[in-house]
Amino acid sequence: MLIVIGGDAAGMTAASLVRRLQPETGITVFERGPYTSFAA
Ligand SMILES: Cc1cc2nc3c(=O)[nH]c(=O)nc-3n(C[C@H](O)[C@H](O)[C@H](O)COP(=O)(O)OP(=O)(O)OC[C@H]3O[C@@H](n4cnc5c(N)ncnc54)[C@H](O)[C@@H]3O)c2cc1C
Repeated sequence: MLIVIGGDAAGMTAASLVRRLQPETGITVFERGPYTSFAA
Protein backbone atom coordinates (compact mmCIF):
# COMPACT_ATOMS: atom_id res chain seq x y z
CA MET A 1 0.00 0.00 0.00
CA LEU A 2 1.27 3.48 -0.93
CA ILE A 3 0.05 6.64 0.80
CA VAL A 4 0.98 9.94 -0.89
CA ILE A 5 0.58 13.32 0.83
CA GLY A 6 0.07 16.03 -1.80
CA GLY A 7 -1.55 15.54 -5.20
CA ASP A 8 0.30 18.02 -7.38
CA ALA A 9 3.30 17.34 -9.64
CA ALA A 10 5.49 15.27 -7.34
CA GLY A 11 2.73 13.34 -5.58
CA MET A 12 0.78 12.33 -8.68
CA THR A 13 4.01 11.50 -10.55
CA ALA A 14 4.97 9.11 -7.75
CA ALA A 15 1.48 7.60 -7.69
CA SER A 16 1.48 7.16 -11.50
CA LEU A 17 4.92 5.52 -11.48
CA VAL A 18 3.94 3.00 -8.82
CA ARG A 19 0.66 2.31 -10.67
CA ARG A 20 2.68 1.43 -13.80
CA LEU A 21 5.36 -0.62 -12.03
CA GLN A 22 3.18 -2.36 -9.43
CA PRO A 23 -0.44 -2.33 -10.68
CA GLU A 24 -1.56 -4.47 -7.75
CA THR A 25 -0.44 -1.93 -5.15
CA GLY A 26 -3.21 0.05 -3.48
CA ILE A 27 -2.59 3.82 -3.74
CA THR A 28 -4.24 6.58 -1.70
CA VAL A 29 -3.41 10.26 -2.35
CA PHE A 30 -4.37 12.97 0.14
CA GLU A 31 -4.62 16.48 -1.36
CA ARG A 32 -5.64 19.43 0.84
CA GLY A 33 -6.79 21.52 -2.12
CA PRO A 34 -9.79 20.92 -4.40
CA TYR A 35 -7.79 19.61 -7.39
CA THR A 36 -4.97 17.21 -8.22
CA SER A 37 -2.54 17.45 -11.12
CA PHE A 38 -4.46 16.34 -14.25
CA ALA A 39 -1.29 15.91 -16.33
CA ALA A 40 0.50 13.60 -13.90
C1 LIG B 1 6.30 31.46 -9.00
C2 LIG B 1 6.46 30.04 -9.54
C3 LIG B 1 6.23 29.83 -10.89
C4 LIG B 1 6.39 28.55 -11.45
N1 LIG B 1 6.14 28.38 -12.77
C5 LIG B 1 6.28 27.17 -13.31
C6 LIG B 1 5.99 26.94 -14.71
O1 LIG B 1 5.60 27.85 -15.44
N2 LIG B 1 6.14 25.69 -15.22
C7 LIG B 1 6.56 24.65 -14.43
O2 LIG B 1 6.70 23.54 -14.96
N3 LIG B 1 6.84 24.83 -13.12
C8 LIG B 1 6.72 26.05 -12.54
N4 LIG B 1 6.99 26.24 -11.22
C9 LIG B 1 7.47 25.10 -10.43
C10 LIG B 1 6.32 24.19 -10.06
O3 LIG B 1 5.28 24.93 -9.49
C11 LIG B 1 6.85 23.25 -9.03
O4 LIG B 1 8.06 22.65 -9.46
C12 LIG B 1 5.86 22.11 -8.79
O5 LIG B 1 4.58 22.63 -8.53
C13 LIG B 1 6.33 21.33 -7.58
O6 LIG B 1 5.37 20.30 -7.38
P1 LIG B 1 5.34 19.53 -6.07
O7 LIG B 1 4.31 18.45 -6.25
O8 LIG B 1 6.71 19.13 -5.65
O9 LIG B 1 4.88 20.61 -4.97
P2 LIG B 1 3.53 21.44 -4.89
O10 LIG B 1 3.10 21.90 -6.23
O11 LIG B 1 3.78 22.45 -3.82
O12 LIG B 1 2.45 20.37 -4.40
C14 LIG B 1 2.31 19.99 -3.07
C15 LIG B 1 0.86 19.56 -2.88
O13 LIG B 1 0.72 19.04 -1.58
C16 LIG B 1 -0.48 19.51 -1.02
N5 LIG B 1 -0.34 19.45 0.42
C17 LIG B 1 0.53 20.14 1.19
N6 LIG B 1 0.39 19.81 2.47
C18 LIG B 1 -0.60 18.86 2.52
C19 LIG B 1 -1.20 18.11 3.57
N7 LIG B 1 -0.82 18.26 4.85
N8 LIG B 1 -2.17 17.24 3.26
C20 LIG B 1 -2.57 17.07 1.98
N9 LIG B 1 -2.04 17.74 0.93
C21 LIG B 1 -1.06 18.64 1.21
C22 LIG B 1 -0.65 20.91 -1.56
O14 LIG B 1 -1.99 21.32 -1.56
C23 LIG B 1 -0.11 20.73 -3.00
O15 LIG B 1 -1.14 20.39 -3.90
C24 LIG B 1 6.81 27.47 -10.63
C25 LIG B 1 7.04 27.70 -9.26
C26 LIG B 1 6.87 28.96 -8.72
C27 LIG B 1 7.13 29.19 -7.24
